Amino acid sequence: MKENAVSDIRPFRMYGNLYFVGSSKVSVHVIETSVGLVMIDTGYPDMYEQILSSMEELGLNPKDICAIFHSHGHIDHFGCTQRLKALSGAKTYISRIDNAIVNGTYDWSWAKELGLPRPEPFDCDVFVEDGNCFTFGDTTVRCVLTPGHTEGVLSFFVNVEENGTSIIAAMHGGIGMNSMAAEFLDSYGFSRDCREIFRTGLWKLQQESVDLVMGNHPFQNDTEGKRKRLEMGETSIVDSAEWLRFLAETEAALDQMLQQEQMN
Ligand SMILES: [Zn+2]
Repeated sequence: MKENAVSDIRPFRMYGNLYFVGSSKVSVHVIETSVGLVMIDTGYPDMYEQILSSMEELGLNPKDICAIFHSHGHIDHFGCTQRLKALSGAKTYISRIDNAIVNGTYDWSWAKELGLPRPEPFDCDVFVEDGNCFTFGDTTVRCVLTPGHTEGVLSFFVNVEENGTSIIAAMHGGIGMNSMAAEFLDSYGFSRDCREIFRTGLWKLQQESVDLVMGNHPFQNDTEGKRKRLEMGETSIVDSAEWLRFLAETEAALDQMLQQEQMN
């Protein structure tokens, strides 16, 4: 096995047909449906081998990917999309707004900030609008626009099933304050309004009932801790209080950044 094929978070089944195949740097999730595998985000460009080997370790065939959803148009979430699409023929989904980043209309892929080469432009197949639902066999992916981190961040709500019990797993598609900091916004000439728009999105998501939180990045929902708990024999990582806790912590982080800026 190639060295870069090993993730520092072992791939694992989170719940029933929901799997984690990313790394500590960024999440990649797979939902196994009766019509194929649905992937959420594709990691950094150098994660291709790792994603393939993580999927194979779980008995998931990468060629069975039928759909790839993107939380937003930053390079750490679409880095392997074209190669995975070439391998599987998957249809690719992103918000219309953030497609303008991946197709190169706007140079906001965050590659420059991460010291990575500018990604090759491409267009996704499906431009997702707020509230769109996409059904794959018994599984529906509901997409909610929650802008702020980028203009076109999508949050996802998915029904997943284990032993006949169906729950809702959800991901906020972008909570990083880095792209909402005054310094960053000013350097690009972006409006600072995105911070309050982001807050409105958090409030909108508070209305949702969620049983299991998927992190857009693993540190946002302690993915590794959840994996370890399952490994130690805990039967389930379902926690219906986590979603509101996570949203409250995110809003507190926003307030902290805004207060810090006021003091500077
Ligand atoms: Zn991002």
